[in-house]
Amino acid sequence: MSTRLVGIDCTLCSYRAIDSDDMRAHMADHLASARRALQTARKRYSATTTAGAEVVIAAAAAGISEVAIASALDVNRLTVRRWLGKPRRR
Ligand SMILES: [Zn+2]
Repeated sequence: MSTRLVGIDCTLCSYRAIDSDDMRAHMADHLASARRALQTARKRYSATTTAGAEVVIAAAAAGISEVAIASALDVNRLTVRRWLGKPRRR
């Protein structure tokens, strides 16, 4: 009986699959996990940009310039203009 180690090592974790079918099943778990992480990140990004846009609108209404707002938030001025509902022109 051979004592040779067989299998396919996962490049993402310490799992060793017994064959390619097993590796594909294992990768489905990694994909599902990455899907959940991306969904969470998108939700957080959306909530964060919505909150940022609210601050931009309030700051502009208070008389702060688009350039100053963009600098303070470290975003492009065109992003500020988009959040203010203004056209993309300079
Ligand atoms: Zn893995």
